[in-house]
Amino acid sequence: MDRTLAADLARLPDLLDATRRAAAEALATLDERAVVPDAPKPTDRDPEPEPLPEQGCGTETALAAFRARWEPRLSASAGPRYFGFVTGGATPAALAGDWLTAAHDQNSNSSMDGAGQDLERETVGWLRELFGLSDAHTGTFVSGATMSNTAGLAIAREWLGTRLGVSPADDGAGALGPVRVLSGAPHSSIAKALSVLGLGRNSLVRVPTLPGREAVDPAALDRALADTPGPAVVVANAGTVNTVDFDDLPAVAALRPRHDFWLHTDAAFGAFAALSPDHAHLAAGLDASDSVCVDLHKWLNVPYDSAVQFTRRRDLQARVFQNAAAYLGPLGEHPDLVHLTPENSHRLRALAAWFTLRAYGRQGHREIVERNIAGARALGAALAEDPAFALLAPVRLNVVCFTLADDPDPARLTALREAAAAEVFVTPTVHEGTAGLRAAFSNWCTTQADVHRAARALRTAAREIA
Ligand SMILES: *Cc1c(COP(=O)(O)O)cnc(C)c1O
Repeated sequence: MDRTLAADLARLPDLLDATRRAAAEALATLDERAVVPDAPKPTDRDPEPEPLPEQGCGTETALAAFRARWEPRLSASAGPRYFGFVTGGATPAALAGDWLTAAHDQNSNSSMDGAGQDLERETVGWLRELFGLSDAHTGTFVSGATMSNTAGLAIAREWLGTRLGVSPADDGAGALGPVRVLSGAPHSSIAKALSVLGLGRNSLVRVPTLPGREAVDPAALDRALADTPGPAVVVANAGTVNTVDFDDLPAVAALRPRHDFWLHTDAAFGAFAALSPDHAHLAAGLDASDSVCVDLHKWLNVPYDSAVQFTRRRDLQARVFQNAAAYLGPLGEHPDLVHLTPENSHRLRALAAWFTLRAYGRQGHREIVERNIAGARALGAALAEDPAFALLAPVRLNVVCFTLADDPDPARLTALREAAAAEVFVTPTVHEGTAGLRAAFSNWCTTQADVHRAARALRTAAREIA
């Protein structure tokens, strides 16, 4: 054994302790650190990359080098005032689960291995209950909502094949001829998925939304489905990123008797509305979907990368993703995970979700969701009453979509964002042609004190750039 490696092995518990101390320190200082560190000047953005070490230095020195050179340049995205995109943190239990995922290093995709698959199935069952899905839905862990949407649409593609008497899994997407995928305000990852799946970005048909809303107009969807005969795919949206609008899922499902379509619902973070009795109506009807995308590294607050793909048609899922090899188990009634997901080998991704659900339960996660919603409402109210700002949409759930009231010029919004970035991080958007910013609440440790701090930082920044 290499001498440095042998030395590390001999003191492994010490090294893990040192790493634990470094992690605890990084987390304890989240609140003081700039939410996003000053952007390095273009000239020092890429310091000379270090050469590949010929002789290693051991874990302790590598840890010190990481902390000196890279850690200060990382954002505090695990912290309470990183409101960019829809970014969750990691609950203590989720973090513990994630560490143990690496420690056990399971490739949990086959029944020939240990109980990893069973742990994943147990976790999926809990998640199904959390989101009000019936046991007609099976689920599999994937790396994120983009992959969940891609897997869901891959199953939809195979379903189209059953309607047309072909198998895209065997014969290629070309066997389908032109395909239509209808949606009101789809997330950008839907177009990406269609590109990957060989259906093409142009197969996406934008259906008009309700006036002033991002929710699809069910009557317009009805007409769009009638316009072109043949089976179609409908992507319903449960929680859009700008205004967190929800399609009327029961109204969309009610079109089924008159049109032949696969219903995929992108509920990446909107599914979590089900945890709050006051908001559960938004995601009601999710169970009628043929496939559902839910992200976990957002509002469940498990570390990247984690999401679930639910479907009612595991048979078609296995047709798409089966990985026939002499050394792997047969498909059978409960196919091994290797036959159900895009990747073959994958980490025991379910463990972090299992830990946080086991540790905090439905009520613990309900509290996070409701506190985040209250935080978004409070920030929305604070900005709405400040003449410098205007809301671009009502705060429906956990996102505040806002702009500068007098001149929503993208350059000024960038200046505002950068001036506030040490205290609060928000991301740019365009809503109905107006440039704006969005603040998304999904971190488990965000409090009302953070909301006040964020509002103050945004107000100060607005005066600075005026
Ligand atoms: C975040 C998000 C996605 C993509 O999620 P990733 O985890 O980044 O792949 C898809 N759809 C919606 C509605 C989202 O909010």
